[in-house]
Amino acid sequence: MPEIVVLSGKGGTGKTSLTAAFAHLAQDHVICDLDVDAPDLHLLLAPRRLSSTAFVSGHKARIDPARCDGCGRCAQVCRFGAVTAGSPAVIDPLRCEGCKLCVTLCPAEAIEFPATHCGDWYLSETRLGPLVHAQLFPGEENSGRLVALLRQQARQLAARLGHRLILADGPPGIGCPVISSLSGADLALLVTEPTPTGLHDLERVVELCGHFRVPAGVLINKSDLNPRQADAIAAFCAARGLALLGHLPHDPAVTEAMVQGLAITEYRPDGLAQTLREIWSRVQDRLSASTGPQTNPMTAIHPLN
Ligand code: SF4
Ligand code: SF4
Repeated sequence: MPEIVVLSGKGGTGKTSLTAAFAHLAQDHVICDLDVDAPDLHLLLAPRRLSSTAFVSGHKARIDPARCDGCGRCAQVCRFGAVTAGSPAVIDPLRCEGCKLCVTLCPAEAIEFPATHCGDWYLSETRLGPLVHAQLFPGEENSGRLVALLRQQARQLAARLGHRLILADGPPGIGCPVISSLSGADLALLVTEPTPTGLHDLERVVELCGHFRVPAGVLINKSDLNPRQADAIAAFCAARGLALLGHLPHDPAVTEAMVQGLAITEYRPDGLAQTLREIWSRVQDRLSASTGPQTNPMTAIHPLN
């Protein structure tokens, strides 16, 4: 099942707006929002939730006050400063790393170790296709595992529906959730902006793609705001043998579309939307090159409204 993941290496490059536009242009696809810490694709897609499932991962220690005799052993051994000694002792769940040491060493066996409900994941339908998404609770970890779970669910859903492409809005940065969203993907679309930070973060995510042997293509968003820096990014792509899939000019219509809750390609058929159609065509070519033409799922583009 071909998977495209849209990444940026940093937030605020327009990655989600572009993912929504590509979701509008694609056919026979499942959309996946892999930014589980701060998802926002749903703001544009207005999903109707079909199911909600608890994401349970990892454990946290919890003291039974009725059994704790206040010996203080747990506070002594916790390397993370999660325990306040007392009678009973108290564990701060936001600091507990779930190492289980206090559970093992408590002489009164007063410390429980339940699995943690870290968030929820959802199957939804939207006007642009089925959506698999999630919300990790504030301060919770295991985002990489949740991303892996969403990808697995997206693949299963696509197989069930007979769909032939997964289009994922990836998380920002280059940390664990990005690694989890990238490994095994067929194509990474890297959205950058013409600033020194944009180039720096692009370099980092390109390294990551190289490490995981995922073919990558680059889009320079708002490229006309700093043509010199856009040239520097183009030169970087050429030097690294990366496909430069297109330049997108700054266009206030993107914000207008967002205010209306629409992808830019739904909001207006000309201008930037036309450029995006051309870029999407190049994306098809790149995907064909990495997966073979027989598995290219993007044989047509929806007519624009
Ligand atoms: S080690 Fe057990 S008994 Fe001692 S303070 Fe901690 S919870 Fe209470
Ligand atoms: S499980 Fe580990 S991190 Fe959590 S309170 Fe016990 S010793 Fe500290």
